[in-house]
Formats: sequence, C-alpha cells, structure tokens
Amino acid sequence: MAAKLLLLSAICRLIVIVGLTLHPTDILLVGTENQLSFNRSDIQSASLDFGRMKTVEPMAVLHPASASDVSNLVKLAFESAHGFAVSARGHGHSINGQSQAANGVVIQMSGSRGRWSPEVSEKLMYVDVWGGELWIDVLKSTLQYGLAPKSWTDYLYLSVGGTLSNAGISGQAFNHGPQISNVHEVEVVTGKGEVVTCAEDKNSELFHAVMGGLGQFGIITRARIALEPAPQRVRWIRVLYSSFSGFTHDQEYLISLHGQPKFDYVEGFVIVDEGLINNWRSSFFSPSNPIKISSINAGGGNVLYCLEITKNYYQHSGPESIDQEVEALLQKLNYIPGSVFTTDLPYVDFLDRVHKAELKLRSKGLWDVPHPWLNLFVPKSRIADFDQGVFKGILGNKTSGPILIYPMNKNKWDDKTSVVTPNEDVFYLVALLRSALENGEEALTLERLSDENRRILNFCNENNIGVKQYLPHHTTQQEWMDHYGEKWPQFYKRKMEFDPRHILATGQKIFEPSFTSMTRSW
Ligand code: FAD
Repeated sequence: MAAKLLLLSAICRLIVIVGLTLHPTDILLVGTENQLSFNRSDIQSASLDFGRMKTVEPMAVLHPASASDVSNLVKLAFESAHGFAVSARGHGHSINGQSQAANGVVIQMSGSRGRWSPEVSEKLMYVDVWGGELWIDVLKSTLQYGLAPKSWTDYLYLSVGGTLSNAGISGQAFNHGPQISNVHEVEVVTGKGEVVTCAEDKNSELFHAVMGGLGQFGIITRARIALEPAPQRVRWIRVLYSSFSGFTHDQEYLISLHGQPKFDYVEGFVIVDEGLINNWRSSFFSPSNPIKISSINAGGGNVLYCLEITKNYYQHSGPESIDQEVEALLQKLNYIPGSVFTTDLPYVDFLDRVHKAELKLRSKGLWDVPHPWLNLFVPKSRIADFDQGVFKGILGNKTSGPILIYPMNKNKWDDKTSVVTPNEDVFYLVALLRSALENGEEALTLERLSDENRRILNFCNENNIGVKQYLPHHTTQQEWMDHYGEKWPQFYKRKMEFDPRHILATGQKIFEPSFTSMTRSW
C-alpha cells in the first residue's frame, strides 16, 4: 500500500512538472507499479551509460511488457500539453548519453519484464525478436535450430534495437553488409505513438528512416532478422605487417573476392610502440607469453598492423580441408614471414569473444571506467593520410585500448537508410576504443584522451579527409547538418513526419525538443 501511495505521489509530481492534461489515474493505465518505475536505482542506472562521461537523470523508467506499453507512453508524451522526452534504452552501451532522457522517461527495452522469446522460422530462415533483445540471446535461440544471424557486432551484449539504430558492424560486414542490411521487417512505435510494421516494400519510408536512424523516428519493438545455417567451428588467424600499404592492400584484396573462396571475417588492428599484441578485446595469444612488438622483426617501424581473419567450417568437412583452404588464401598475402598466429574454436566462442575480455576487465575493476571512444568511417583514398597523421602522428605510444581498422564495401549498404558513409566504393572503420584511467599516468587520463580525439577530428577536418563519425556524437544542429550533408533535408523531413514534437532520443542532441522549457539540460 505504501509503495502504491509513493508511486501515485511520484506520478502526480510528473504530471505537475510536464503539465499533462490528465488525471493521475490515467497514467496508471500506461504504467502499473510493475512497469513505470520511480525507483532510485532504476533512475540511476538509466542516467549513466558505458561512456561514463555524463549523468542525466530521467523522471521515470518504463519497463514495457509489450509494444502497446511503449505506444501508450509515447502517445501520452505526444498528446500532453507540454510534452516530455522519451528515449528507448537498449543495454545503455552508448558513449555520449544517446539513450538518456533529461526530465523525461527512459524506456528500458533490454531485460524488460514480460518480453516475448525469439520466434524462429526455420523454413523462411528468419527470427522475430523483441527490440530490446540482446544479440547473445538471439544467437542462443537460433542455434537451437542450427541457424544464426549473418552479420554481427564484435560484442553481443548489445540490443537489437540499439545496434539497428546505428548500423551494427563487424568483420562480416564486407560480405553481408551491416546488420541493417540483414533485416526483413521491423515493428516501430513512432513519435506519435502509432504502432507500424514496416519493411523494404511496406511503409518503406519509415523502415529506411529507422535503420541507422539513431532512435529519431521511432522505437523498434520487433525486428525480423535474416538467418543462415550456423557454422560449427572457426579457424581464427592473425598475421602482422610493418607496412601500412601492404596491410591495407591485403585487406582490400580480401574484401574484393566475390564468388570464390574467401575468408568469412576480415578485421584488423593497429599496434603502436610498447603495445602488446594482446589487448582486452580478445586475449588471442597466450596471456602468460605476451608478444612484444620489439620481438617481431618488423623492419624498424614504430607501428605494426595486425590483420585478423577467420574461416568458418563444419566439423564433418574435416580439419585437413580447412587447412588447405586457409593455406591457399594466406599464400596470396604479404605479411611479415613467420608472423602467423592461429587458433581454432567453436563458432559461439568466437562470436562471444569480447565478453570473456569483459569478465576479465570487470574482475580488475577496469570495465566501469570512462570510455572516450571515437569511431570513424574513413574513405579508402585517404586512409594512408590518416595513418600518417594519426597512427604515426597524434597517437602517443600508450593508446589505452584497441584501435581497430577494417574496410567495408559500400555496395552492401542501402543508401536509402539514415546512415551516412563516405562517398567511395570502399571505406574503413577506424575505432579508437580507449579507456581512461585516473591512475597517475597522464597519458591515460580522460582529459588527455578527449583532447587527442579532438586533435584527430581537427586533423581530418583541416586535411579534408572526408571522415564520417560512426555512433556519431555532435553537439550543435549545424554539426549534425554537416554530418548528414546532402541527406540532411531527407532526415529532417522524416523527423517532421514521424516525430513532429521531437520527443524521441533527445540524448542524441540532433533536434531541439519542442518543449524546451522542461528540458533545459538538452
Ligand atoms: P543504447 O546505447 O541503449 O541506445 C543507443 C541509441 O539507440 C539511443 O539513441 C537509443 O535511444 C536508441 N535505441 C535503443 N534501443 C532502441 C530501440 N529499440 N528502438 C529505437 N531506438 C533505440 N557497434 C558496432 O556496430 N559494432 C561493434 O562491434 C560494437 N562493439 C561494441 C562493443 C562494446 C563493448 C560496446 C560498449 C559497444 C559496441 N558497439 C559496437 C556500439 C553499439 O552498437 C552501440 O553502443 C549501440 O548503441 C548499441 O548499444 P545498446 O543496445 O546498449 O543501445
């Protein structure tokens, strides 16, 4: 009873603050005490994200049990006199507060009570999942049928709605495209509270808008994801390069192979001086025997590049045949002789590799620290300039986290979606995944790493490198207009159509809410 009274008083407070033209009991239709929470721990966890650089408190947190719960809440915000911000939150793995909702309501999509389980169609090779489902749980469900999604992120404790709102990329993207290229259909709650099913050929404007739409046009409550037969094992190989042009030449060659034997995954990373070839993202080499750059005959350079490739296979095809296939592919590459490192593991263990590293970092207290990450798409024609200016220039010899680099084919991306990529057939992801540690080492402080990020962006600007941020973070509308470039008018028109009051995902800071008086911290 006391809990109910507390809830009612919190709801009254919300109603007074946002000026809803409602009776308090109406909001109970939206959120029963099981769904709308004013609990301190819920508010606190929704006010932080993986970036750990900014705390913004919502008024309440909704734990939806269905798309109707999401729709009822958004409708309430849309129809209320003053409006209030509503942000879907997947697993809160953004860096810059993208799923926060100042003085509004955060809808906690992942782990929400009453969500339904993934439903697999073996015949049509797809799975229907709740928008807050984590990719690890999607994988576990589909594997029961010997099937798996085709395109991944490196880390699986991310929500389906969260990655589809960005793109969802990993080493399979060169071949299958990003995750948004592998979705048949989504169910979306728009900024007006309407529940709409959309696909390439059905309400296609909304479908394309939400793919990579940064949560601006609707909340994804269900997604239908394409599947393929799941491989059983993975041969995972790393080879080293001292020459950047040799490294990128081989990466670009590997992603150009069509209709012939090829690797299933192509990534890579940069190792600067003093770095170990192991990093937290994956302890591939024996931890008891870490490999130092200086131990490799690298031709005197300060920086090494590691190509990371995999070949999937089925147990029944036998280890000899996979040996031969891998050998034939490796023969075409120009890595440092003797620098081949190979391991073999079950498919699931490969896909879930980053989680192992997470557990290790957590045990050392190194996971919940600030993460000033910077992800850039760099056009192929300028990647060598980027190497000179950033890897061999701005970055010091202590990078405080993995630096990924891998190319993708633009023809696997649908230009009708909301994502922006450089205007070249091939572009690279460069991901600076660094952790700030206030442990006395100046090179690793948040201030220092943030300053380096600014210098990298300035360098790209001044030299017209033509980069686009992935998981973008901008703070003014002008910066967003520059980010979207010629796509901005379409992006703006879609916003006016699907979220005219600018209720959704205000944490992205793209559109000023139409209820500014209530959200001064926007
Ligand atoms: P949140 O951070 O909770 O939300 C992100 C944005 O999407 C917010 O604006 C939010 O409002 C919106 N949103 C969330 N759910 C929905 C929904 N259902 N409908 C509409 N909008 C929604 N990304 C890659 O592409 N490849 C990688 O390999 C990769 N690896 C990562 C590894 C780690 C350790 C981490 C922390 C992140 C990684 N990411 C990667 C980035 C990741 O894709 C983004 O953080 C993304 O936001 C997903 O996180 P989330 O599900 O926690 O979403």
